[in-house]
Amino acid sequence: MLIPNMNYANLKDSYLFYNISKKTEAYLKKNVLIQKTYRLGIGDVSLPLCSAVISALHSAVDDQSKKDSFMGYMPECGAPFLREAIAKHYEKRGVALSADEVFVSSGASDELGDILDLFDKSSSALVIEPAYPAYVDANIIAGREIVHYHASEEDSFAPYPDNNITADIIYICSPNNPTGAVYSRDKLKAWVDFANRNKSIILFDAAYEAFIEDEDIPHSIFEIEGANTCAIEICSLSKTAGFTGTRLGYTIIPKALERNGMRFNDMWVRNRTTKTNGISYIIQKGAAAVFTDEGQRQIKENIQVYKNNAKVLTDALDKIGIWYCGGKNAPYVWLKCPNDMSSWEFFDYLLENIQVIGTPGAGFGENGDGYFRFTTFGDTEDTKTAAQKLVELLK
Ligand SMILES: *Cc1c(COP(=O)(O)O)cnc(C)c1O
Repeated sequence: MLIPNMNYANLKDSYLFYNISKKTEAYLKKNVLIQKTYRLGIGDVSLPLCSAVISALHSAVDDQSKKDSFMGYMPECGAPFLREAIAKHYEKRGVALSADEVFVSSGASDELGDILDLFDKSSSALVIEPAYPAYVDANIIAGREIVHYHASEEDSFAPYPDNNITADIIYICSPNNPTGAVYSRDKLKAWVDFANRNKSIILFDAAYEAFIEDEDIPHSIFEIEGANTCAIEICSLSKTAGFTGTRLGYTIIPKALERNGMRFNDMWVRNRTTKTNGISYIIQKGAAAVFTDEGQRQIKENIQVYKNNAKVLTDALDKIGIWYCGGKNAPYVWLKCPNDMSSWEFFDYLLENIQVIGTPGAGFGENGDGYFRFTTFGDTEDTKTAAQKLVELLK
């Protein structure tokens, strides 16, 4: 008899977004006069692709209509033009990469799951919580032991390593979803040294690097000396350039990264050539436009809109005197629920009183309870109204 992967039975049901929509629906059904809610919960962008990307996509579609420019299968690890454009982008930050250390992917979430193929089943995974739920779930599906590492207000939700708590795989997400916290150069250096000492591998999730505005915060783990021998970086154009529905990501695996005489870069080439047939030519052309000067200028304009939303929300929280982090180098604002409310109590309180919908922190790990996440990806007018209502309710 076929035996299913029984690890699926170990997954905790994630009721987070299901509960949010159920509770919202039930509330609106009961209160028929209420027409409008203010949605600051979703982690999806709302602005369209920039014009540099749109023209590149159009012209790539036209390429596919002519025999001379038609493209069939693309190289499994990414089109050379895009791998080179990404390597050049890193070079501007002082990170020297060769194009074959860059792998083009269909997105960071896909890659965060797939990359686990590189590691033995017996390896353990350290997750700094509150965390993006996929880190824990992808490892449960693979049958790995999870080491839950709790970030807190005391470390501004970006902790240093603890010499007594280690694991083979270490997840670091900076700027962080859900907390909006960023890891300083000093903190990242501590994690890199820790990983090299313990022979662990850091999976660095850089999905929100484009939101960093402070000069001294690293955008890439490879800005840290020693990361070449202990880290893989996973990034995506989803939040950076509005590619959540278009799909494109990239992964950096240095040639110097090896364990037991096995080079992870070579292994990933073998993995990709076995398990994928590459990413759409059209999408890769659109992605390459993001890395042009024009593309960079345009995506920054969109990011600025989200940053203005962030300012509106953090100004409101400052007025009320509520503790929060994020909102500056990240599109998330992570706040402490007032009056010792639990995350779900605060969710209900906001929904029932001012129809503002956020995300309960408890959905990102048990130590997220008592906290709440607002995203800045929403509509600007809605964000302003929500902020005003928050001040009136809580001041
Ligand atoms: C949104 C997000 C991603 C991006 O995922 P894609 O699959 O590329 O859309 C990656 N990591 C985190 C923490 C995110 O919030």
